[in-house]
Amino acid sequence: MLHQRITDMKILIIEDELSLRQTMIRSLEKERYLVESASTYQEALFKISDYDYDCIILDIMLPGGSGLSILEELKTLHKKDSVIIVSAKDSLEDKIKGLNLGADDYLTKPFHLAELNARVKSAIRRKQQSGELQLVLENICIYPDKHSVFINDNELILNRKEFDLLYYFVTNPDRLISKDTLAEAVWGDYMDQADSFDFIYSQVKNLRKKLKTAGALPEIKAVYGYGYKMVAE
Ligand code: CA
Repeated sequence: MLHQRITDMKILIIEDELSLRQTMIRSLEKERYLVESASTYQEALFKISDYDYDCIILDIMLPGGSGLSILEELKTLHKKDSVIIVSAKDSLEDKIKGLNLGADDYLTKPFHLAELNARVKSAIRRKQQSGELQLVLENICIYPDKHSVFINDNELILNRKEFDLLYYFVTNPDRLISKDTLAEAVWGDYMDQADSFDFIYSQVKNLRKKLKTAGALPEIKAVYGYGYKMVAE
């Protein structure tokens, strides 16, 4: 889903512990991100005020101040940088405070670098998607511009007609939709009606199966002799 080249991604590592900082820098540079770092609260404050980052990796205990204050500052500055907290303190309180202050994720030290890389990748993906138009119905998320659908965080691959059908259902939840309406919405009126009904039947059947397999919460119910209805909780 990354449309931007990964080398354009800027990451700021805020960590005072030298060896950990260097290890993270090396690991993320290997993933071809542009990596900057700050080792004190003050230095971090300068960086976040002057630049935008795609992802900030933030230690809580810093010389000169708390990482939580950095989060507050990001909020004050209306910054949209994704933040992953890395903290030695496996304290639930810190975690909740951090997440409440807008952090996207939380990683407890010590962690595997592979885990850090995975979290960074997914934080950046979420950030990229959050600026776009999206339609959400329970755990179904549609990005109309990209014609992509996610159930929870997993992409659901649909053909073009299945996508159009799902789009129509998600924009009309809990509404009884006749086969006529559906055929017109998805095919326009240039298709022979009898054919289009057969087609709808098979496409909806496939779509229902795919949604169910992917664990989608809303369900497309068939209303005998009439059409369909997408039922959300
Ligand atoms: Ca520290």
